[in-house]
Amino acid sequence: MSSVRAEAIALRLPFEMGGPKPLFAGLPRQMEMLLIRVETDQGLVGWGEAFSLAIWPAVRSAFEQLVAPLVVGQDEADIAGISERLQRQFHILGRGGAAMYALSGLDIALWDLAGKRAGLPLHALLGHAHHSSLPVYASLMRYGDKDLVTRNTFEALSRGYRAIKLHEVRTDAVHAARAAIDASGTQSALMVDVNCPWTVAQSLVMADEFRDCDLLWLEEPVWPPEDFAGLAHVRQASSIQIAAGENNMSAPHFAQMLQAGAVDFAQPSVTKIGGITEYLKVMQLAAAHGTPLMPHSPYFGPGLLATLHLTALLADETMIEASFADLGASPLGDAIAVRDGRLQVPQGPGLGCDPDMAVVTRYRVA
Ligand SMILES: [Mg+2]
Repeated sequence: MSSVRAEAIALRLPFEMGGPKPLFAGLPRQMEMLLIRVETDQGLVGWGEAFSLAIWPAVRSAFEQLVAPLVVGQDEADIAGISERLQRQFHILGRGGAAMYALSGLDIALWDLAGKRAGLPLHALLGHAHHSSLPVYASLMRYGDKDLVTRNTFEALSRGYRAIKLHEVRTDAVHAARAAIDASGTQSALMVDVNCPWTVAQSLVMADEFRDCDLLWLEEPVWPPEDFAGLAHVRQASSIQIAAGENNMSAPHFAQMLQAGAVDFAQPSVTKIGGITEYLKVMQLAAAHGTPLMPHSPYFGPGLLATLHLTALLADETMIEASFADLGASPLGDAIAVRDGRLQVPQGPGLGCDPDMAVVTRYRVA
């Protein structure tokens, strides 16, 4: 058996987020999705998702120029071998970034194929699923306006979410969300993700400003993201729980973070870290350190499905991150519809749901 075709398909999907769309990496936020499609000589098709955001053109190019030519003609069942060989070939191009994101998408597609070949959902192929559905937290994008934060916090709660994560950096916005949750009487959890803006000293000041907000965690307070000693200091010197890991570049990078005692929650991202193969290594590392996993998964494609399968393997019920945005069209439709604050763990072979080609065709970026 071998793969006969490997392609990267970029989508740009309409979406609304209950407020003006923020800048991301200096550009207005769009909802891109970079799908990876691998077809075998047996006619099976596997789907993956590579990290995209504003870097999708580079990731698509990396997939087409570097990855696809080395995959076509290979035995697609040799996932570990392909992952190892390609990582070794591409390491000089950067362990994080376009080449690694392209490899992540490929790896997810190969695992989807493996599940389809075996006639098993991914979680059954990997082990034992402890859950048939998982709780989801609403990951609100940055509004930068406390009234919009209040309105969207109430909206998320009314849709059944029982945990809310903000991407706000200002104290008043965080306090506004806390007040909205308290007023709702739902006892919902609140988390704040600030995306690496502060020094260690600034982080400690801000942690103190958030002390009355009862945060479940503060995510990525410290710049640069690699400063694990700084993060560990914030964790020790404040009473706040720390989450990080979406910007880690490899499983060994996670080992360094865990060794440093930097986090209360480790956040691997399956579309960035090298796909399912590398994510499984991070799961083992986190378990060995007794550090709970809290997946990074603000995706609407196969990356979210893969995260559901992987998280179902954890005995402790663990929250899934879902972007709080309404898509005008969704390639995965019902499979990623949050109901009463939960997502179903897919039960079909492989990832359990293929993208709807009508949506793919309509929103494909040339
Ligand atoms: Mg984050």
